[in-house]
Amino acid sequence: MRLFDTARGQVVPFETRRPGKVSMYVCGPTVYAPPHIGHGRQTVLYDVLRRYLTWSGYAVDHVSNVTDIDDQIINRAADEGTTPDDVARTYEQVWWDAMDALGLDRPTQTPHATAYVEQMVELVSELVGRGLAYETSDGVYLDTSQVEGYGLLALQDLEQMRAGARIETIEEKRSPFDFVLWKKAKPGEPSWPAPFGAGRPGWHTECVVMSLDLLGEGFDLHTGGQDLRFPHHENERAQAVALGRRFANHWMHHAFVEVKGEKMSKSLGNVTNLVDLVTEYDPRAFRLLILQSHYRSPMDITGEAMGDAETAIGRLDTFARRAAAEGLWDGSPDAASVDRFRQAMDDDLDTPAATALVFGLVRQANAALDVDDRTTAAPLASAVRELSTTLGLVLRTAAAAVPDEVQALARDRDAARAAKDWAAADALRDRIVAAGYLVEDGPTGTQVRPA
Ligand SMILES: [Zn+2]
Repeated sequence: MRLFDTARGQVVPFETRRPGKVSMYVCGPTVYAPPHIGHGRQTVLYDVLRRYLTWSGYAVDHVSNVTDIDDQIINRAADEGTTPDDVARTYEQVWWDAMDALGLDRPTQTPHATAYVEQMVELVSELVGRGLAYETSDGVYLDTSQVEGYGLLALQDLEQMRAGARIETIEEKRSPFDFVLWKKAKPGEPSWPAPFGAGRPGWHTECVVMSLDLLGEGFDLHTGGQDLRFPHHENERAQAVALGRRFANHWMHHAFVEVKGEKMSKSLGNVTNLVDLVTEYDPRAFRLLILQSHYRSPMDITGEAMGDAETAIGRLDTFARRAAAEGLWDGSPDAASVDRFRQAMDDDLDTPAATALVFGLVRQANAALDVDDRTTAAPLASAVRELSTTLGLVLRTAAAAVPDEVQALARDRDAARAAKDWAAADALRDRIVAAGYLVEDGPTGTQVRPA
């Protein structure tokens, strides 16, 4: 497999430290609010990568941290009159619920920052002890001038950055690029004891400690959104480099998601975050849009695109039902198609090509079935099953039943609409959605299907 490596600036062979094993670290959420739509792209993308690597025969150790102590968590707790612990627990649950709705395999390990504070104190102590970090009135900072090659992942000249950018700084910092390893606690804030004063770890220190502890030196792959490349990832790397430890061997970064507003296209309505999106739409439609964009290209999410993707998923489901009814769903997949799939995915994770291949197979298999050519259709249908599953698109071979009480709500909604009681119609729609179903307006009235 070949993947773009941010540090080397080109597509290179993805080589693993140990044969048959992949160690990957995905920077996880800071749990103080519901996940946004960009988090959805991130988690689906690395879920696809992991599924593909697993399908290719690798044992994948997928570590993704949970930052459960942070300024934003502390601020949210103050706003809501609750504790940082409560905020973190609440929003971590919201996070996992959204990820479950997206059909993600959970990471193999999900370390929590608060469980690693002692090791973070040890790392900071070591940096201080070696004269690589220094104490100020508000914390402990890494002296980046002592880190060989500092700025690698910034991908631009730091001197130009220093001149051009407004970099937040405190007077005691020796360089604007020096960053906080340990924040001294202000009164009333949660804190842990440390030789340099009670406080809490900086975010960059959390990830370097947890990734090295769980995956070991020279682990294979470190990933995240483009926005994490600098300073977060560079600062994780700098701490490891300062201590002479080998850090990630390969850096993978994905592009942003833009959520387009009403003016650009059909509105996304009330969708403001990932939880809304997976409630309003078939989560598989979102996965399909992610697959249809290359991970290094920005993607737009619009209501229209989500609607079109739901229709496309509907076509795949219809085919899956047809193939299953013909007894052609569980055979052995067409080898040439599997090869083409592998070629696309091995080429810097070209999911758009891999996904187009699946749709092409559906067209060919449907055409073969239309003329009763089961011999041609069988291996193609099985390839559709095999490849879509590898991409994490679970197709439905049976029309899922909609219970009577939900059908009754749909009929009530039709009656409310006929009476032009829009408020009642909207309320009924919300109840159907809350029960886990999608609502569409068809020619014969409200159509309901499982989300
Ligand atoms: Zn991180």
